[in-house]
Amino acid sequence: MKAFAYVNPTSEREAVAALKTDGIAMLLGGGQDLLARMKDYIDSPDRVVNVKGLDATVTATPDGGLKIGSAVKIISLFEHAQVAKLYPAVVHAAGEVGTPQIRHQGTVGGNVNQRPRCWYYRNEEFVCYKKGGSRCFAVNGENQYHAIFGNDGPSHIVHPSSLAVPFVAYGAKFRVLGPNGEREIAAADFFTMPTLQNVLKENVLEDEDILTHVILPAPGNVKSGHYEVRYKQSHDWPLAFTTVVLTMNGTTISSARVVLGAVAPIPWRSRAAEAALVGKPLNEQTAAAAGEAAVTEAKPMSGNAYKVQIAKTAVKRAIMQAAGLKTA
Ligand SMILES: Cc1cc2nc3c(=O)[nH]c(=O)nc-3n(C[C@H](O)[C@H](O)[C@H](O)COP(=O)(O)OP(=O)(O)OC[C@H]3O[C@@H](n4cnc5c(N)ncnc54)[C@H](O)[C@@H]3O)c2cc1C
Ligand code: SF4
Repeated sequence: MKAFAYVNPTSEREAVAALKTDGIAMLLGGGQDLLARMKDYIDSPDRVVNVKGLDATVTATPDGGLKIGSAVKIISLFEHAQVAKLYPAVVHAAGEVGTPQIRHQGTVGGNVNQRPRCWYYRNEEFVCYKKGGSRCFAVNGENQYHAIFGNDGPSHIVHPSSLAVPFVAYGAKFRVLGPNGEREIAAADFFTMPTLQNVLKENVLEDEDILTHVILPAPGNVKSGHYEVRYKQSHDWPLAFTTVVLTMNGTTISSARVVLGAVAPIPWRSRAAEAALVGKPLNEQTAAAAGEAAVTEAKPMSGNAYKVQIAKTAVKRAIMQAAGLKTA
């Protein structure tokens, strides 16, 4: 690992100021992703700015929602009674991240901003688009864990954050602080599909920006469900998963958000599944129809067509969970 300067700011503003340098500065949350990348020579920052000392609280907002500091640990989110009451899918997602050690170390800001797990990206030998190269090794290579939606390229990653998916589904906003002040960005607009111009990043953050908070609106009269499928249940990343948030009018679904994870370069909102739900009763038949609809636009790669069935099942079971029906 290359030698680096370490900065321990005491405020958000100090943290932003510390990112201004002639060299490369990077933020450190729990460090599980950043330090691994540094040890593998994927990133070699000149300065590491610790943001674990920033806001690590969950507070109520005036509109009945919650504001989550980016330094909140994943385990704290998982154990938070008010988060469980208002946003059960967030707690469910937090509880399935990695292992207890990972949940105790990882932060909300680090989880949302963690870099792709694509094995070509994680290997210093492969200089792909995401590392400034001019090809994607997954296209003709080992792509069994890559995207099945949004596969126009140039990169075919799946976004690695489990928390991002329920955040998008519940309509969260992300508060960002940069040199020109603060701004709020809808979670759905935070993550970016890869293009040749922006392929080095997965979101709209500029080099001197920090994600400071996730702001969840009051959920209203909704039912939500969250279902993840893994190869090994113990500590794998999911193969596909879904959060659904359904607004109910009596027993009828009046509006729906269906967001899939581990299937696309961003948390993937399925408008087709949502259309299949609106105006329908919440039951197993509706859930199955939405699962079918969700995968109509899937374009798997050479080695990951098996994920289509898994994504379909994850959508169906998340909806059944929202309905309080047994999923297995
Ligand atoms: C075996 C294993 C299984 C795992 N399974 C899952 C899983 O199922 N789901 C899942 O989501 N994750 C999973 N992970 C990943 C793990 O959850 C992440 O590595 C962890 O959440 C990263 O959090 P951190 O605080 O340690 O991040 P860090 O390593 O500190 O930071 C990650 C990145 O985010 C940037 N960053 C940190 N904080 C901020 C901020 N406030 N604003 C802007 N940028 C910031 C850093 O610069 C860095 O680039 C798994 C990891 C392992 C090893
Ligand atoms: S999928 Fe993305 S990260 Fe992986 S090799 Fe292709 S360009 Fe690189």
